[in-house]
Amino acid sequence: MSELNFTGKVVVITGAGGGLGREYALAYARRGAKVVVNDLGGSLAGFGGSSKAADVVVSEIEAFGGIAVANYDSVEYGEKIIKTAVENFGTIHVIINNAGILRDSSFKNLSEKDFKLVLEVHLNGAYKLTRAAWPYFKNQKFGRIVNTSSPAGLYGNYGQSNYALAKSALIGFGETLAKEGAKYNINANIIAPLAKSRMTEEIVPKDILERLGPEKVVPLVLFLTHETTKATNSIFEVAAGFYGQIRWERSSGELFRNDNSFTPEAILNRYEKIFEFEDKTFSPVTYPSGLNDYNTLYEKAKTL
Ligand code: NAD
Repeated sequence: MSELNFTGKVVVITGAGGGLGREYALAYARRGAKVVVNDLGGSLAGFGGSSKAADVVVSEIEAFGGIAVANYDSVEYGEKIIKTAVENFGTIHVIINNAGILRDSSFKNLSEKDFKLVLEVHLNGAYKLTRAAWPYFKNQKFGRIVNTSSPAGLYGNYGQSNYALAKSALIGFGETLAKEGAKYNINANIIAPLAKSRMTEEIVPKDILERLGPEKVVPLVLFLTHETTKATNSIFEVAAGFYGQIRWERSSGELFRNDNSFTPEAILNRYEKIFEFEDKTFSPVTYPSGLNDYNTLYEKAKTL
């Protein structure tokens, strides 16, 4: 099997000065990509900033003969990061929306400032970068996007209402980019990783943490962004070498007549059916992935 090579490809990774982003940057560069290593170099909570984080990764890449350039802008100014890519390497092919911070707090104690800043970095940062890359993707009829969600974005997590909101929004955003990008060969996927980094070292038990090396997330991200990959519009959970896809499952459900029999009491009487996920023969569960999936429901409704 031939290696999935990235020679000639320009890759931007936000937050690549440490953790997962650094691993991606090194791996892309080893496989021939020209890499923009973006990092603001601030603390986990987003305080301060330094050029050192990105510079160190660029030096590591250059040390093995790879090609990389540093960018120190906040993802809130994603257009400046894309400018760095275009000025240095002529265009942009792959973006990894990875930069992130934490401002954890129970919802009751969450300040508006901490709520907004987390959205600003994770969500608006991804928007700003993607917005700036999109015209290049469209014109060259090639683009690859990975949005970084989280188990918190899929399932919610105590003390992370701000983070979970941003991370779940990145799912809908990525799925929509995949749909709009399909005709231009722009693929977009979403990953929900779990990995050892400064984000998890305080909260995940040490013995588990040791199995969660961030390098174990890398193969999926490279696969998803290669020019040969067909994968798009998909969500993947990835941790400790496990890779799995997440999809929605709609219960068998119940169809109600649109007349005066359609009442809260009618729902109470038949709620078991609404929550039924097991009856796969009579009224099978479905796996919706877009608004078109409602067509089957419209067809069913016509039979009533
Ligand atoms: P990390 O803190 O090591 O890396 C995040 C990087 O983003 C840092 O280097 C930081 O300086 C940079 N950054 C922060 N704000 C920035 C900004 N405004 N502009 C540019 N760079 C900025 O953490 P990590 O674990 O490597 O996290 C990477 C991504 O993966 C994040 O989006 C995180 O939410 C997500 N994630 C991580 C885990 C995990 O288990 N580590 C789980 C779920 C999701």
